[in-house]
Amino acid sequence: MLRRRLYSAGARHVTAAAAGPTNGFVGAIGNTPLVRINSLSKETGCEILGKAEFMNPGGSVKDRAARFVVEDAERRGLVRRGGTIVEGTAGNTGIGLAHVCRAKGYRCVIYMPDTQSREKMDLLRMLGADVRAVPAVAFDNADNYNHQARRHAEALENAAWTNQFDNTANRQAHIETTGPEIWAQTGGRVDAFTCATGTGGTLAGTTRFLKEASDGRVRVVAADPPGSVIYSYIKSGGKTMERGGSSITEGIGQGRITANLQPDVHLIDDALKIPDADTIRMLYRLLDEEGIYLGASSALNVAAAYELAKTLGPGKTVVTIMADGAYRYQSRLFSRAWLEAKGLADAIPAHLQKYIAL
Ligand code: PMP
Repeated sequence: MLRRRLYSAGARHVTAAAAGPTNGFVGAIGNTPLVRINSLSKETGCEILGKAEFMNPGGSVKDRAARFVVEDAERRGLVRRGGTIVEGTAGNTGIGLAHVCRAKGYRCVIYMPDTQSREKMDLLRMLGADVRAVPAVAFDNADNYNHQARRHAEALENAAWTNQFDNTANRQAHIETTGPEIWAQTGGRVDAFTCATGTGGTLAGTTRFLKEASDGRVRVVAADPPGSVIYSYIKSGGKTMERGGSSITEGIGQGRITANLQPDVHLIDDALKIPDADTIRMLYRLLDEEGIYLGASSALNVAAAYELAKTLGPGKTVVTIMADGAYRYQSRLFSRAWLEAKGLADAIPAHLQKYIAL
């Protein structure tokens, strides 16, 4: 009896490990936990569940896309072992690609605007990437970092520009992995899904899977920061693309409907605009009440799930994405001077001010 109880208690903690060793770094991507956010669930009477993407081996949801775009280039015969993967990115995609390239034996070249933080460039170099910091110019300028990445790959033999914004292998990662994992982890009991857009791969791919699996029953709500057009686009049925403001959130916010979003954008039922004050308040609240240490895009996603739960009423299950941890942003998100400069220090309630450590 005791043995059985010990065994079943242990088994709850080893569900991912039970599958045995993975095939290297790439095999360890995905199968992340789905975490019940207890305080918000109790308050709203809903199950509010966050997919713990910060537990991917490269530290973010973008490990999934990195694997899929590289394997897509392999399948299309663009690269063979020893070849080069080139991408324009300032963030998590580059980190995911740098890891995947080391693991698979490719060179990795990352173009980024020279306005990006020193930490990001250093991290990419430490992961073995060849980092090219180029002047920050708009997308319609031929010297924009994305165009430079494309030209770099075109000029080389055995090389691919992975083009995360418009390469639909990105959303395919979420159709084949994130969506099915959420469905299996909830036993199909999902009432709503919400998440923000960077490339749109996570939102579009997960939406496509969940809508198909549920015969359209799962309600999908796009979460959007100020300065991004997605809210306006969805609310107006595709008629307007208003930006309205700017945001502290990194990795999300979009000015157009990318090829990753395009095929599934009509499946999105509604949108929520989340102000930075709500995002930062949620970020500190999750740390205090749950011990969960999230980047701002994830805090925005959870704030959207919380708003959505309140409108749906008790008894529903709302799922969102916790894309990465705060580690890459802590010199900003936990700095009083930075929060004050952004007008956000006062958004943090008095009992949470003690976490502003820098
Ligand atoms: N959050 C963070 C921290 C990210 O780096 C990204 C990717 N830019 C996203 C969210 C958005 O993911 P996607 O590109 O799939 O829309």
